[in-house]
Amino acid sequence: MRIHDDSGGVDVPGDDRRGRVVDRVTDLIGNTPLVRLTEAVTAAARLWPADGAPGEGSRGGAPLLGKLEYVNPGGSVKDRIAVAMVDAAERDGRLRPGGTIVEPTSGNTGVGLAMIAALRGYQCVFTMPDKISEEKRAVLRAYGAEVLVCPTAVDPDDPRSYYSVARDVTRRTPGAWSPDQYSNPDNPAAHRASTGPEIWRDTGGRVTHFVAGIGTGGTISGAGQYLKEVSGGRVQVIGADPEGSVYSGGSGRPYLVEGVGEDIWPATFDKTVVDRVEAVSDRDSFLMTRLLAREAGLLVGGSCGLAVVAATRVARALGPDDLVVVLLPDSGRGYLSKIFNDEWMYDYGFLDPPSDEPVVGAVL
Ligand code: PMP
Repeated sequence: MRIHDDSGGVDVPGDDRRGRVVDRVTDLIGNTPLVRLTEAVTAAARLWPADGAPGEGSRGGAPLLGKLEYVNPGGSVKDRIAVAMVDAAERDGRLRPGGTIVEPTSGNTGVGLAMIAALRGYQCVFTMPDKISEEKRAVLRAYGAEVLVCPTAVDPDDPRSYYSVARDVTRRTPGAWSPDQYSNPDNPAAHRASTGPEIWRDTGGRVTHFVAGIGTGGTISGAGQYLKEVSGGRVQVIGADPEGSVYSGGSGRPYLVEGVGEDIWPATFDKTVVDRVEAVSDRDSFLMTRLLAREAGLLVGGSCGLAVVAATRVARALGPDDLVVVLLPDSGRGYLSKIFNDEWMYDYGFLDPPSDEPVVGAVL
């Protein structure tokens, strides 16, 4: 694998899967590339000049690399945990041939599970909150899964919540198995076994800071544990969280970034591994998400914009000997009607609508 830079790139040992023939789609999960995010750092300095700005004694900023998870075959980082959880359930008999997979998921874990279920002949039922985009539901149905949409604005213990509905369906369906990504130890274990080692390998052990959003906490906990251990505690682990979520001290107030932030603390989140959490607003997350598409050619999702805002704050305060890696969980294709839709951005006040006032001096 090759990390490109202006001097032509450096070669580090790794698995280069280009040109390879694989037997199954699951063989394509993981070994995702790192891409240099220079444009994001420049843009952050322009958009938020005071935010993490290099101050007195500043060392000029650190390089920032994004780990591009949308190249996984199901389109997100969640393919990693989907295959790990299904493999483990098959091994110990919790999931048997002809069984049904039931899961409350905001979409990406569902896609990974639906993809594997299609390949291995299982049924799938997913529950999700109604704030999740229609495009995401359509993808699950395309793989043959059933999708149950539940209200977002209810308590997790409310029988109408997507957690409660999933529990109910599991209880009533013979042969049902719920991976429960919020408590399943195979979720963080998958990142400990793959995401973390890949980052270490592909940076040649030079990574000093790892930034990731926190949903179930599986990514940051598993990859973070590995990076801490392998570096003897040197790698700093920074969580990126939507303003209002519990991880950054909020009460669970609704926010619009999907896939990250929680109103409960899941068992899969090992908070001892996280050195600090950066809270990022919906507005800043979405502006960065759009910017990554337009200025870096990276069509990624809103939680990527959120994580990159946090990562640019971290990188701007460091020096050239540091190396920041930020995880980019999914693609922007699932957000075309929201983040990439100008009208939607105007409606929420995230963008100023074009003014009707004639521009003084404009050539008509
Ligand atoms: N971003 C997106 C788009 C996601 O779907 C998820 C998973 N909920 C995350 C980030 C967070 O990953 P994790 O659950 O491993 O904390």
